[in-house]
Amino acid sequence: MAIREILTVPNPVLKQVSKPVAVVDDAMRALMDDMLETMYDAPGIGLAAIQVGEPVRVIVMDLQEKPEDDPEGEAVKKPRYFVNPEIVWKSEDTAPYEEGCLSVPEIYDEVQRPARVKLRYLDYNGNAVEEDAEGLFAVCIQHEMDHLEGVLFIDHLSKLKRDRAVTKVKKLTRNAA
Ligand code: ZN
Repeated sequence: MAIREILTVPNPVLKQVSKPVAVVDDAMRALMDDMLETMYDAPGIGLAAIQVGEPVRVIVMDLQEKPEDDPEGEAVKKPRYFVNPEIVWKSEDTAPYEEGCLSVPEIYDEVQRPARVKLRYLDYNGNAVEEDAEGLFAVCIQHEMDHLEGVLFIDHLSKLKRDRAVTKVKKLTRNAA
């Protein structure tokens, strides 16, 4: 496993539409392993392959929930992998959430999305899965699936807010370099 560089705005690669994965093989699993390590290192709760420069429809996620019997305890790692995810149903009701993104560091803003969705995807072993998502899981999977279309959460904001965010990130990444 290796930690990859996470691309940040305004890198044009982030605007690319990612291609479907033909087969979930060892090379694809190696990419998912790298993505997960990169995400944990950042740290973040979700990462799409395009964020490490790979234009394929792959997402990793770990909502890092606290153990139910010990809410003060350390989060238990529960990695999830989504290959070629599709939303097959979404609720009409929406919910707001203050989102952030590893490709738009230190920027947080509220986005409205469908509160519940039904997904279909292939897992780490290439098995087809159908699953309902709500709460943070629904927010996160919709945010990550936007990345597969070249869409960032700041694209859901006003042009003024978006431009301001990109300027801030440019300044931040220049200072870090
Ligand atoms: Zn993101």
